[in-house]
Amino acid sequence: MPSFQPPHVLLLGPGPSPVPQRVLEALARPTIGHLDPRFVGMMEETKSFLRDAMQTSNPMTMPISAPGSAGMEAAFVNLVEPGDKVVVCQNGVFGGRMRENVVRIGAEPIMVNDAFGTPIDLEKVEAAMKANPGVKALAFVHAETSTGVESDARSLCRLATEHGALSIVDAVTSLGGIPVLADEWGADAIYSGSQKCLSAPPGLSPMTFSDRAVETQKARKTPVQSWFLDLGLLMGYWEGSGARAYHHTAPINMLYGLHEALLMLSEEGLEAAFARHRNNHLRFKRGLESIDLSLLVAEASRLPQMNAVVVPEGVSESAVRSRLLEEFSIEIGAGLGELAGKIWRIGLMGAGSTEANVDRVLEALAICLDRKPA
Ligand code: PLP
Repeated sequence: MPSFQPPHVLLLGPGPSPVPQRVLEALARPTIGHLDPRFVGMMEETKSFLRDAMQTSNPMTMPISAPGSAGMEAAFVNLVEPGDKVVVCQNGVFGGRMRENVVRIGAEPIMVNDAFGTPIDLEKVEAAMKANPGVKALAFVHAETSTGVESDARSLCRLATEHGALSIVDAVTSLGGIPVLADEWGADAIYSGSQKCLSAPPGLSPMTFSDRAVETQKARKTPVQSWFLDLGLLMGYWEGSGARAYHHTAPINMLYGLHEALLMLSEEGLEAAFARHRNNHLRFKRGLESIDLSLLVAEASRLPQMNAVVVPEGVSESAVRSRLLEEFSIEIGAGLGELAGKIWRIGLMGAGSTEANVDRVLEALAICLDRKPA
């Protein structure tokens, strides 16, 4: 049986994004012990890089050893207890998963629903908070990967604080592509993923918890029902710069990869990375217009890193997507849920956000749709 040799595919879907050679090489470095002092030193640097990326001084900032879904679960299981009320905003697929987390804890989700493709309506959230005194947390998705929509994280975190609730923020697709301002927003729990705008492989979930969130977690009446995601235990491993208590065997080489990806982000600079995402999105938008294609989301809440392109009348969404993969080696994503068949999701995330990639996907789309740029 030969070794598996994956094909070279340009990843312009909703994630994972292309992993730069530098990160791939970091992954291939020698595995050392996860309690080796030199590995612990790298963990400290990784925590510091993550604080910079999330713009926070929260001591409790580290990657969870599992994908973004585990970050989501970690936020809920640590901060929410059975019987608590949680306002959950849903304007796409991932808000629905937050609801599922709340239900499984035995807590009560209070849903604020908005149409897929639109941002979270602040007035509806405020009304829900007022109608339900004593809400424990307000949970929302900053960058909805299923629709390409950005919601107003700053105002949502402020609403949570004003009503004495914790804020739980999904920044899986936002981190590294648009500003995630943990301290400025006063956010309590933010989780992300390694495979979107950070351009490391999937499998790690950067997280940060505010001091208020840590105190809430410590003051729980009931034990965290997940042993693996119990932050009290996890911090024995990630906390401090000296001795480490064994909790689980860290995914050592994956952490080399994340460290390298974060080093690359710090070399580029956050503002430069945001500007690159923005400029390439605008180039893509202009190119779409020139072949008579449009974006689903209104300009004010469009994510530069996740573009929901409307499938024209009479065109088979899946046939174009398959042709892009088979003939042009470009992966894009399909619509999810109620947007299935109606949009293509074209990600320009992290290392994938380049002028050359924008031009390549536009050219391929024009051929598949038999359209000549105007
Ligand atoms: N939240 C959002 C907004 C996402 O886009 C994703 C993945 O695409 C997740 C959560 C789950 O992350 P993962 O697939 O890494 O578990």
